Amino acid sequence: MAFKGRPELLLPAGDLEKLKFAFQYGADAVYAGLPAASLRARPNGFGREDLIEGVKYAHDLGKKIYITVNIFPHNSKLPVIEKHLEWLRDEVKPDALIVADPGVIHMIKDIWPDCEIHLSVQANNLNWRQIKFWQDMGVTRVILSRELRLKEIQEIHEKVPDMELEAFVHGAICIAYSGRCLISNYMSHRDPNMGTCSHSCRWKYKVHIEEEKRPGEFYPFEEDEHGSYMMNAKDQCLIPYLKELADAGVCSLKVEGRAKTIYYAATVAKYYDLALKDMLDGKPFNPELLEKVRRTAHRPDSPGFLFGTTEDSVYYDKNRPVNTWLYTGVVREVLGDKKYLIDVRNKVEVGTEIEVVTPEKDFMSKVEAIIHPESKEEEQAAHGGNGERIFIIEGDMPVGSFIRQQSENAEGASEDAKFECPVSADQV
Ligand code: SF4
Repeated sequence: MAFKGRPELLLPAGDLEKLKFAFQYGADAVYAGLPAASLRARPNGFGREDLIEGVKYAHDLGKKIYITVNIFPHNSKLPVIEKHLEWLRDEVKPDALIVADPGVIHMIKDIWPDCEIHLSVQANNLNWRQIKFWQDMGVTRVILSRELRLKEIQEIHEKVPDMELEAFVHGAICIAYSGRCLISNYMSHRDPNMGTCSHSCRWKYKVHIEEEKRPGEFYPFEEDEHGSYMMNAKDQCLIPYLKELADAGVCSLKVEGRAKTIYYAATVAKYYDLALKDMLDGKPFNPELLEKVRRTAHRPDSPGFLFGTTEDSVYYDKNRPVNTWLYTGVVREVLGDKKYLIDVRNKVEVGTEIEVVTPEKDFMSKVEAIIHPESKEEEQAAHGGNGERIFIIEGDMPVGSFIRQQSENAEGASEDAKFECPVSADQV
């Protein structure tokens, strides 16, 4: 089946600033939530007023915003959730709620019957019967489990054609099925299902082996000189496969990472948006977009489970972040005469070659001078303290442009997946 129109590009918004950057760089919709009721309890910069402002901002642009209420609450938390839902209904008025727990769905049906409900990935949405069930319960969209193959997504769409299907395309992957993880709870008493995951699966573990006839003699078991990261999944990156997903019936392409930076939100939105524009123009996927999106720090990436288990699919390995390019800074003010006020995010020196990323274009330039706000010229600038500096740079950079530089210690890039479709479409 051929895709119909542009699928929605859905970006994470961990705070109001990230929301604005995501829209500025091409997102069609964002998802956000308050710490008390969504699965990002700690790194979440939204307060109540921000969320109201964020919804207004999105709607003024003609874009959408979905609010996460996707924790699995115990009885004691139900009254808080009910109050929260009433506030969302009366004052925030988002386009939909993202919900995981049937009890919360039941509550929404009681107090806000015409609310659009998107079923969170936390609910493990794996088969068409289950999705049909949720359709009968009034859910209008499901966020598919990352563990599904493309062929399974196609089949779900064929069997339940009126259900909107949303799929993750980019970002970190859990080792466990989303919604069923107990590792973080066990290791640090932080419950992922209540929004306080400590990412324990990504920690470095010491593994010891004991030979049967030598009880008590433990030998360290290491994957490499850095240790053993046995549960640390590769990141997901599906930018080369957006047409396959759209053809399979996916109407919304979701990026993970509400805790990540404005730079991540903007650059990932930008290159996925460009890939979607090419797709709509009937052009083949441009591999340069994959290379560009990989310039933003990530763990080695893979297409996850989309094509089944291949040498490039999800596996658990050392997977240290790949940093081929460093986020150097963001333009906060255009001062004229090639002068820009930059919020510096990494060490940078006069003479450094940089890439400038704006919503409209990317181009190479150079840091010609760095000036402290108190007028003193400097040889270098670094993140921390008062990190704002005036840079002299050739080129047109509107407020909100990013600059980045190649990393001297780049490593890990070769561990990214090859981008050729690993199997032909009829095999998936
Ligand atoms: S500990 Fe790892 S697998 Fe578990 S919820 Fe957190 S990120 Fe996912």
